[in-house]
Amino acid sequence: MDAFTYRRGEMFAEDTALAGIAAQVGTPFYCYSSGALQQQYVALREAFGGRAHIAYAVKANANLSVVRTFGALGSGADVVSLGELKVALAAGIAPRKIVFSGVGKSRLEMAEALDAGIGQFNVESEAELVALDDVARGWGKVADVAIRINPDIDAESPTPKIKTGLRGDKFGILWPMARASYRAAAGLKGLRVVGVSVHIGSQITSTEPFRKVLHFIKDVVRDLRADGHRIERIDLGGGLGVRYIDEMPPTPQEYADVVLAETEGLGCEITIEPGRFLVANAGVLVTRVLYEKVAESSTVEPVRIVIVDAGMNDLVRPAMYDSRHAIVPVKADGGRHTKADIVGPICESSDRFAQDWPLPPTVPNDLLVIRSAGAYGSSMASTYNSRPLIAEVMVQGREFAVVRPRQTYESLLAGEALPPWLVGGPGVG
Ligand SMILES: *Cc1c(COP(=O)(O)O)cnc(C)c1O
Repeated sequence: MDAFTYRRGEMFAEDTALAGIAAQVGTPFYCYSSGALQQQYVALREAFGGRAHIAYAVKANANLSVVRTFGALGSGADVVSLGELKVALAAGIAPRKIVFSGVGKSRLEMAEALDAGIGQFNVESEAELVALDDVARGWGKVADVAIRINPDIDAESPTPKIKTGLRGDKFGILWPMARASYRAAAGLKGLRVVGVSVHIGSQITSTEPFRKVLHFIKDVVRDLRADGHRIERIDLGGGLGVRYIDEMPPTPQEYADVVLAETEGLGCEITIEPGRFLVANAGVLVTRVLYEKVAESSTVEPVRIVIVDAGMNDLVRPAMYDSRHAIVPVKADGGRHTKADIVGPICESSDRFAQDWPLPPTVPNDLLVIRSAGAYGSSMASTYNSRPLIAEVMVQGREFAVVRPRQTYESLLAGEALPPWLVGGPGVG
């Protein structure tokens, strides 16, 4: 089921017209379908038949209502900062179901996570092991630890920027060096080594990289057990891809079948950390056309340019990863499609959501929908060009709620302070 469909010629989110929401909250805004979020989670849970813990990767979309929607279904959380830990706790996720990942946890973050009683730290270097041990002993705690292993396996992601499991990447500890790290960890009283973790990348559209990683992990678990370590848990990370335009990612069942088959008989608890899969297609970015123009040139064909009120500060994926999003008008009966560049108002040439994308003629105030914007959209937004963060809305059936109000211009400036020498004086007072 797609939550965003045309009815009587206009785009709905579930049973709510996007144009109606736009009239009330203004544009641009993110719109999430509660039903689509739940559907993705349940599909994954059922594919695994309860044989894996799901820890939602909060960085994909840290909106409190999104995280709480998963928490209410029993999800845990994978967090990569103290801020995300606070979001997960505020969303009601049980601390034991929270995994803390990331290469650069500070001692403050470690202390807060220990104090909250989280279930697992995924540690990425020997220096971090030493720091975590020190912090844990200082607080009279023992931290449950999985070491993140760099398997040197290619995730075959569409861009190198979202590959994380290759030799030389900053993530994890390369095997077999990690074997010595396990030995080091075993000697630290503030740590209890419980398992292994990996995360090779994102937007993975075939089962093959997962299969390779699992083969590799099986050997790792065997070697570590031979060394005398109690390996009870395998954390496979996230990475399951989604369809943006025409990708053919594995179904949840194909993914689960590979994971379950390859880990069968190992006697380990399995955790997965899906982010994108759960949220990408449950969200859209609704934006308004400001102007259309034609960029003339003596050397190339004229380019049709549609300027919209959303910018790369709201959705940075196309600028940052060259990623593609389908863009469609809210009103379906728009006439003949011709190719256009769809751009934002930001003063950067990379502020472009699509190039040569078929779109019917537009007039100012027409609404467009940038699809598949639920993952790495709002969570990567900034206020570049001093643009307030945009509103986020969640729909359930005929109902919608503003789950993050549009930032005000007052709050944009409220966080700043002038040094004494700039207070008062000519021109500023
Ligand atoms: C980003 C990340 C995830 C989620 O990745 P997706 O591709 O969004 O599923 C999971 N685990 C870790 C450690 C991550 O860094």
